[in-house]
Amino acid sequence: MKVLFATSELADLVKTGGLGEVSAGLPRALRQHGADVRVLLPGYPAVLAKCRELRVVGSLPGRASIPPCRIGAVRLADGLAVYVVLAPSLYERRGSPYCRPDGAEWADNDLRFGRLGLAAAQLAQGRGGLGWQPDVLHVNDWHAGLAPAYLRWEGAAVPSVLTVHNIAHQGVFSAEHRHALGIPEHAFDMNGLEFHGQISFLKAGLYYADHVCTVSPSYAREVTTPALGGGLHGLTTGLAERRQLSGIANGIDESWDPCRDPHLPMAFDAADLRGKWAAAEVVRTGLCLAPSDGPLFGVVSRLVPQKGLDIVAAAAAGIVRDGGQIAILGLGDPATEQMLNKLARSYRDNIAVLVGFNEPMARRIIGGSDFCLMPSRYEPCGLTQMQAQRYGTLPIAHATGGLADTIEDGETGFLFSDLSPGGLVAACERAFAVFADKAQLAGMRRAAMSRRFGWERRAAAYARIYRRLTGKPIAEPAAPERRPAERLEPVLAAA
Ligand code: ADP
Repeated sequence: MKVLFATSELADLVKTGGLGEVSAGLPRALRQHGADVRVLLPGYPAVLAKCRELRVVGSLPGRASIPPCRIGAVRLADGLAVYVVLAPSLYERRGSPYCRPDGAEWADNDLRFGRLGLAAAQLAQGRGGLGWQPDVLHVNDWHAGLAPAYLRWEGAAVPSVLTVHNIAHQGVFSAEHRHALGIPEHAFDMNGLEFHGQISFLKAGLYYADHVCTVSPSYAREVTTPALGGGLHGLTTGLAERRQLSGIANGIDESWDPCRDPHLPMAFDAADLRGKWAAAEVVRTGLCLAPSDGPLFGVVSRLVPQKGLDIVAAAAAGIVRDGGQIAILGLGDPATEQMLNKLARSYRDNIAVLVGFNEPMARRIIGGSDFCLMPSRYEPCGLTQMQAQRYGTLPIAHATGGLADTIEDGETGFLFSDLSPGGLVAACERAFAVFADKAQLAGMRRAAMSRRFGWERRAAAYARIYRRLTGKPIAEPAAPERRPAERLEPVLAAA
């Protein structure tokens, strides 16, 4: 089974959040099934800087105003093959993959990601001179959402799968951009990629892909609702009715293991938590929090409205009053950063905010905290709650999406439904009660740490979809996980 996996991020090379980690984890797990998976991503400066061995192996024509590109190839240390779209005029600039250094979105994001989608569709048809053609094209999020559409418009037979990591991000551009992207007029239609008079890259993917996945079973149901479907619930409901919509929870990779995480000051496991206390000490000292015997609440998150940091801020006084401390690490909206910085200034001894992202500090906060706060308004899957459980840190999370699917309320964490400061405070009170009962705390920590969130079974679920679309065999996993406690089977979302 040959799979081309098109994505805007790959954690080894460039990452702004969960997409990069999933793009690093899933292809590798699929390779364990014997699949020949190759990742395709744009040649951002960070990618080129880390791929000194990159060889130019092919070239692809443009379309309308999308410029031609060359394709670079590199094999990462573990053998994962990566193709890089080389289009210097689109990608080689300072800033993030999506935004200028001042935070504004790149004005030509339609062309930048149109180029990614077009390259994916062209390579999927065996073009470019690589001497390799996939059996299936797997694209991720709106960034590569045009690829299934180009395939369809070009009459290609290669099946495509779209994974939606967050339906709120849709890649919507004004209608005139369709000419620059070479979109045929018939496709600018409700039955196509037209979205309220504009064009939507994500809708293109949803409409033209042969199968659509979301990153948890609950989210697969949620995207069919008006509340969380981002205006596309009619389309997703139709997909569910035709059994073309699956929810497969994300996994976390094996580096999330407190026994062998080099970023922790000392290794630990469920039987000996001294390394956990050492990590807490490093976090308190590093972030200038006062010494304390109370619980440490960690937050590692993009600082965006989705993540409910305003709810954390509103609940913070209560947490501190009850003897807790809060350590926050993240990067995002200037307004959210300012709000949190102000909060930290009001509670200097007990609340610390580190604006930025730093993998070692993320792991120390996740490892050293007693609880981790995730009052996300919605959460397609979420990785932090799984990472936290592996490290014996009990998540306190809104019962939504993948959070509801991967946390066992009262066993490995705390779920709450009332998304308000009062709801979070009530959940934190349950956590304080457990913290005061050392036997119960130890039991929950053990239960959380025994959870496995590996990619094996998730990859098997994707492999079944590829098999169904291509008719080609792909091996079952070599070593199935022993404890299938969580709900992650690819349930087809009910209409
Ligand atoms: P999302 O994809 O919405 O950011 P997830 O919980 O799925 O949320 O994934 C978060 C992952 O991204 C975690 O592993 C976290 O450590 C990491 N992360 C969070 N903030 C950043 C950031 N600013 N830069 C890079 N990685 C981040």
